[in-house]
Amino acid sequence: MLAESLFIVFLGAPGAGKGTQAKLLEKELGLLQISTGDIFRKNLQEESELGLLAKSYMDKGELVPDGVTVAMVKERLSHADCAKGALLDGFPRTVAQAEALADLLADLGKRVALTLYLKVPDEILLQRLSGRWICRNCGAVYHTLFSPPKVAGVCDLCGGELYQRPDDKVETAQNRLRVYFEQTAPVIEYYDRLGLLREIDGTQSIEEVHHALLTAIGEVDCQ
Ligand code: ADP
Ligand code: ADP
Ligand code: ZN
Repeated sequence: MLAESLFIVFLGAPGAGKGTQAKLLEKELGLLQISTGDIFRKNLQEESELGLLAKSYMDKGELVPDGVTVAMVKERLSHADCAKGALLDGFPRTVAQAEALADLLADLGKRVALTLYLKVPDEILLQRLSGRWICRNCGAVYHTLFSPPKVAGVCDLCGGELYQRPDDKVETAQNRLRVYFEQTAPVIEYYDRLGLLREIDGTQSIEEVHHALLTAIGEVDCQ
């Protein structure tokens, strides 16, 4: 039987496979993927004030300030489509964000049920980021070598155009990895101390990782 609400946090470095896996689980679990990176990119496309502010950080591979990011997530989680839970992809990325998330869920009478940490060694991460292509229309994620679309440049799912993120170029990606180790890695320890962390070997195939995640989630559901 499903718990009353299921808020699941995806942790892992840029390129670990968080977005790929959250998208696969979305339909199966009936929970929305909330990707802070996707929300920032949408705002950027619409040239909103938030988008322009975020761009100045994203271009350099730095984190958008916690206050701005937390306010955005708070607003998003207040929508009815998150009442049953959500798959949080790319948030929290600092311990301060993790603490803020606990507070804002507590205000709603909810909590984080589980944190799924996709562990992937550094040398593989850059290879994953440099070959990543994303659908401009539906956000589906591809890789030139590991998960190629049937037709180059075209989304299998919706026929949309595929593009490479400007922050996936090697210098920016390297800085994102540095920022990850400095600011986000401590979040792993934060959830471990709370007994909520499950570590998954993210070097397995996309299918194998998916099954490992389903198993981990199934164990929480049964509690
Ligand atoms: P994240 O959201 O953690 O940054 P993505 O899900 O966007 O990571 O994946 C990064 C890149 O690696 C994408 O090009 C994706 O197709 C590819 N990828 C994801 N998972 C795997 C996997 N298990 N094996 C090989 N490539 C993968
Ligand atoms: P990836 O999937 O490769 O890890 P994201 O799409 O999650 O990358 O994030 C892209 C960029 O958006 C980050 O480099 C950062 O500038 C910004 N961003 C996304 N999520 C957050 C967050 N929780 N806190 C601060 N900045 C964020
Ligand atoms: Zn698409």
